[in-house]
Amino acid sequence: MKLLPVTMFGDKILRKKVDKLEEVDMETIELITNMFDTMHNASGIGLAANQVGVNKAIFIVDLSKVEDYEDSKPIVFINPEIIKYSAEKTVFEEGCLSIPDIRADVERPESITIKYRDTDMKEQSFDANKLLSRVIQHEYDHLRGILFTDLVDDDTKKKLKGPLRKIRKRKIDVSYPISETSDYQLVM
Ligand code: ZN
Repeated sequence: MKLLPVTMFGDKILRKKVDKLEEVDMETIELITNMFDTMHNASGIGLAANQVGVNKAIFIVDLSKVEDYEDSKPIVFINPEIIKYSAEKTVFEEGCLSIPDIRADVERPESITIKYRDTDMKEQSFDANKLLSRVIQHEYDHLRGILFTDLVDDDTKKKLKGPLRKIRKRKIDVSYPISETSDYQLVM
């Protein structure tokens, strides 16, 4: 098992646009394997490549540890594109491995249609709702440089200023490996 440092709020790579993949090579497979280890170790249910310091259009989701989702399979999304959002919206409390110990309500479309490539670079697509839709939208945002704390209401934004500053300055206690500086990138 290889754990990768998780990038933190304030790290530059979390705000950069990611590059699409042309192919899935051995290095990519190794990265994805390490991303799953890193996510499971941190008890996460979704993780984007830039959260481990890699500027690529990949995210993973695994809901199998969540009650009522025990039968769900882990999914790898390569070059994802959300092609449809429902008009209906829902509010749900979100958290993020890059923003430890902060949770806040975020409003998002209830359901989506996502198109992506699997690890064989075969095109896939499906409709998602409820928790799966929520996690996919959160991770998809990561690849566009958007964090859930950008999407909260103004009052919450004010309240989060202090705690977010602490994360940026690494004045936090986290149970999993994290990046040491805001310039961190994974050398592959
Ligand atoms: Zn996140």
